[in-house]
Amino acid sequence: MVPARRISRPVRVADKVIGGDAPVLVQSMTNTDTEDAAATAAQVAALARAGSEIVRITVNTVEAAKQVPEIRRRLESMGVSVPLVGDFHFNGHKILAQVPECAAVLDKYRINPGNVGHGTKRDEQFATMIEKAIEHGKPVRIGVNWGSLDPELLARMMDENARLAKPKEADEVMRDALIRSALESAAKAREIGLPAERIVLSCKVSAVQDLIGVYRELAAQCDYALHLGLTEAGMGSKGIVASTAAMGVLLQEGIGDTIRVSLTPEPGGDRTKEVLVAQEILQTMGLRAFTPQVSACPGCGRTTSTFFQELADKIQTYLREQMPVWKARHPGVEEMHVAVMGCVVNGPGESKLANIGISLPGSGEKPVAPVYVDGQKTVTLKGERIAEEFQAIVEAYVKSHYGGSRPAPRASRLESIPIRTAP
Ligand code: SF4
Repeated sequence: MVPARRISRPVRVADKVIGGDAPVLVQSMTNTDTEDAAATAAQVAALARAGSEIVRITVNTVEAAKQVPEIRRRLESMGVSVPLVGDFHFNGHKILAQVPECAAVLDKYRINPGNVGHGTKRDEQFATMIEKAIEHGKPVRIGVNWGSLDPELLARMMDENARLAKPKEADEVMRDALIRSALESAAKAREIGLPAERIVLSCKVSAVQDLIGVYRELAAQCDYALHLGLTEAGMGSKGIVASTAAMGVLLQEGIGDTIRVSLTPEPGGDRTKEVLVAQEILQTMGLRAFTPQVSACPGCGRTTSTFFQELADKIQTYLREQMPVWKARHPGVEEMHVAVMGCVVNGPGESKLANIGISLPGSGEKPVAPVYVDGQKTVTLKGERIAEEFQAIVEAYVKSHYGGSRPAPRASRLESIPIRTAP
């Protein structure tokens, strides 16, 4: 059952919508030097092609800002129209004023209220950025971050807390300060004239329980669209697990209108991995469908060969590689479900629940692989070419079932399990 979403104000970002009843969007961020327009455009294109629906780039210098129109031109020449967000800190007020063509080309600005200056200058500089957003008709994400929380606000709240009869723990005050920073900054932006429908909020922290607590509170206190993400999630499986654990809980509660998985890439690693992880979080939770899913058993002593692992991997890679073309030609294919199983214990059962499933022979079993299509056994493969023949069956199924008009949805996996009634 798909969880009900929290009601938020929809925010239009170019041709996308964050919040309201729009699907939860996947975002990502480049790690190239924005002054290098060629490298940045190439990475934005790679992220967009991987499925990122909004891409953020840092705009940290005037020179970087001057390159933003060139980045947009390069993307257009590659046929990429993904909305671009400019990330501004410290000097954003100067950059947006000095390079109006950058302010005009970007589709959204991200402003971190903890990094816009101190004292009266803070308010002035924040106001300048909001005025630029109003002038150019752009939405803004007010993105508060644990690591750069406004020190003056925190000091003020710590003092208030110390005067309480029962003071809170320091980390609780910090969580409250994050929320207050986001909400007070949003209120200031609205006083300046930015409509609520152009404001997205985020309050990122790096610990799972803190993120859940902060977003629950933030969601309860406002109806702004929320950008969800665990900051500094980390590398590899740690980053993936931490992001999934935190965002999974919040998304299940209907909180979050757009997500970013902040993975640290391995040296030389692929930046697009964060996009795939974000898609997989949303798809495995049943919130969106991006690419056909492959179910594979973990394998055990009943199947000592690695053939089924290789076949599962091959099919998953094949399906993902076909998606850029299939998406346009075969609408609905992203909801297809393929099962690759290692033996007859769970193989036929799981295969019957998928659109297409294959049950490979386990150790000591007859060397044959029954294939099930829409729950019916259609063919038994054997010999050296099982992988190629199975791939051909998948391809034929896609062509015949997703030929241009959306197919009637197949019964959900649970619905297709026979219901046993008591005798
Ligand atoms: S389906 Fe067979 S091979 Fe796969 S985990 Fe289950 S028992 Fe083991």
